[in-house]
Amino acid sequence: MSHILSARGLELAQTLVRMNTVSANSNLELIGFVSDHLARLGVRSRLTYNADKTKANLFATLGAGKRNGIVVSGHTDTVPWDGQDWSVDPLSAMVQHWPTEGGGPVPVGPADELAALGSPRLYGRGAADMKGFIAIALANAEHFMESESPFAVHFAFSYDEEVGCFGVRELIADMKDQGVKPLACIIGEPTSMVPAIAHKGVYRYRCCVRGKEAHSSLTPQSVNAIEMAARVVGKVRDMAEGFEQNERRYEGFDVPFSTASVGQFHGGIADNVVPRDAAFHYEFRNLPTADAQQMQKEVLAYADRLEGPMKKVAPDAGFSFETICEVPSFLGSASDPITRLAQRLSGEERVTQVAFGTEAGLFKGAGIPTIVCGPGSITQAHQPDEFVTLEQLARCEAFLQGLAKTQTIA
Ligand SMILES: [Zn+2]
Repeated sequence: MSHILSARGLELAQTLVRMNTVSANSNLELIGFVSDHLARLGVRSRLTYNADKTKANLFATLGAGKRNGIVVSGHTDTVPWDGQDWSVDPLSAMVQHWPTEGGGPVPVGPADELAALGSPRLYGRGAADMKGFIAIALANAEHFMESESPFAVHFAFSYDEEVGCFGVRELIADMKDQGVKPLACIIGEPTSMVPAIAHKGVYRYRCCVRGKEAHSSLTPQSVNAIEMAARVVGKVRDMAEGFEQNERRYEGFDVPFSTASVGQFHGGIADNVVPRDAAFHYEFRNLPTADAQQMQKEVLAYADRLEGPMKKVAPDAGFSFETICEVPSFLGSASDPITRLAQRLSGEERVTQVAFGTEAGLFKGAGIPTIVCGPGSITQAHQPDEFVTLEQLARCEAFLQGLAKTQTIA
């Protein structure tokens, strides 16, 4: 079945892509744009902010007065493009066929004319991950407001997803405070419109080691921070090997067991100085059936055992741990009503599991049945020349228009 993307959907997607909402920046321009757009339709937005009020989540109910609602969720931030080799401006929101003869852009025109040419693409940071989805939701706001469906739709657009799903926690807490109890949640992360029912968790930590400095000829009077850090690094590595060897496989993931890895290591000032300080970052990507917090406890217990001998040499020597992010895994089910609804709306019989983290575990953890299903492919997300095809956006639009007509999710 082929679908035609609305001109308004494309225009809104281009508008959102042109706003720089890299996670390090404010997203208030985008949030302001969306809330103004909704305000013109008579829909009030509820904003929840980060501590210094530079970023906001937006929550809005379309079809107010209906008893229950379905959350349509997306994050507004994007990853940066520093150091990436782009052939187009990441903020250009250019629409073109790719590759083209001679590599040049093809004419930009009305979406339906372009669609007739094959599979044009909208290029730009966030096109697939996930401004395309937010734009199509916004472009169809009236469908949700005027629908005969017994359900309201809640737009839930968050900040700081890409750096640890921080914003949406505020949004979910505020939703609870307001007594909003959604029936289900659809997260439009790029799955090529195939409903995804599981992903791993991402738990990331920083470990700082304080030792005791000395001339390297006097090692017994010192505590070598790098060497102590290395032992904990070795522990993380041992755990990773343990997962690979012993963990019960969860098929459907690229790597069907939990993984652990160390991503950064810093320490030392000179060859002849026993280092006082070292620090490293590591992560666990746990299967939905494995407990990442338990993994971290195992690391803490191991470090604790190393500390006794360190403190005998220097009382203030030891380890300190900080949490960088804890994004819980997500596990839905092929038989969940929301999964079956997503299959019906997308015309897909398949379900999939994805390798990336999303906000799904947080919505599910709040008691809301959740599915991940959105336009574009994750293989384009975070990459140079990120794009989403207009065909994918059109399928997303058909999906959301179908949602507006949905009478039951059972
Ligand atoms: Zn994303």
